[in-house]
Amino acid sequence: MPTHQAVRIQSVGGPLELAEVETRPPGRDEVRLTVTACGICGTDRAFVHGGFPNITWPLTPGHEIAGTIAELGEGVDNFAVGDRVAVGWFGGCCYQCDPCRKGIFIHCVNGKVPSWHYPGGYAESVTVPANALARIPSELTDAEAAPMGCAGVTTYNALRHTKAAPGDRVAILGVGGLGHLGLQFARAMGFETIAIARGTGKAEDAKKLGAHHYIDSTSGDVSAALQALGGATVVLGTAGNAQAMADTVGGLAPQGELVTIGVTPDPLPISPVQLITPGLSIVGHPSGTAKDVEDTMHFAVLSGVRAWIEELPLARAAEGYAALEQGRAHYRTVLTM
Ligand SMILES: [Zn+2]
Ligand SMILES: [Zn+2]
Repeated sequence: MPTHQAVRIQSVGGPLELAEVETRPPGRDEVRLTVTACGICGTDRAFVHGGFPNITWPLTPGHEIAGTIAELGEGVDNFAVGDRVAVGWFGGCCYQCDPCRKGIFIHCVNGKVPSWHYPGGYAESVTVPANALARIPSELTDAEAAPMGCAGVTTYNALRHTKAAPGDRVAILGVGGLGHLGLQFARAMGFETIAIARGTGKAEDAKKLGAHHYIDSTSGDVSAALQALGGATVVLGTAGNAQAMADTVGGLAPQGELVTIGVTPDPLPISPVQLITPGLSIVGHPSGTAKDVEDTMHFAVLSGVRAWIEELPLARAAEGYAALEQGRAHYRTVLTM
């Protein structure tokens, strides 16, 4: 049996260890990739700490995967060995459940996520469903493509499904792994772009990322600051902080939307009274399908949007992950193999 190197975590909260593991050949409708890059996403923390149901241990994290097709399973005729592809949060769907039959594949009841339903991309090789593959355009490197499968598609897809039109004010709450892409996408989509973050440390970066305005959430009332700019049509909540998201609601323009994508189990402290008269909505947005990931990468090529990445070899995955846990990670750390 051929083997490859992969990061493994033996049990909840355990250390990231590099191990030699068996390489699984692709089954029907699957492909095997030689992984070349994998982003370290904030959500990886939740996996390591057992925050999702039915995780199988040992766990190999990683759902921002880029690589090259090494082997095709039976029935895969729309991809070829050597194709460059990405696999993000959307790790496959069944095409048979009710949501799939309605065409909303991201809500597949049998949907798969790399690292959750099969070993993820902190590895030299992954075996994945072919319907999870997004083609990488030649203009993007594998390391640039990897974060587009989760952080990229989540922010891009959320923003393009709001009712904001070019010229409208859109605020991005949080200037981190998701937010630094959200700012770039919002600017490229033609929105008057507002960054909101704690302190002034991110102000300069936010401007470089395209923000027209910067609000330091520690220096006063965020909603008042948004209203002083005229009110936001959309706030994209990328920070996994329920209170910080709630603090923006009073800054929405009439019929505005708070779109939540920052993962937190905490309840949003927002009262119906705040929503009713101005007719506000609060919605969640999942990431996007393989096709949405392709759209994200296409838009990134057109607009010049790129994740700000720091590359780290797979052997140093534990170090990259520790930086994330301790909140001192770069905007996006991408493991390279
Ligand atoms: Zn399905
Ligand atoms: Zn992610």
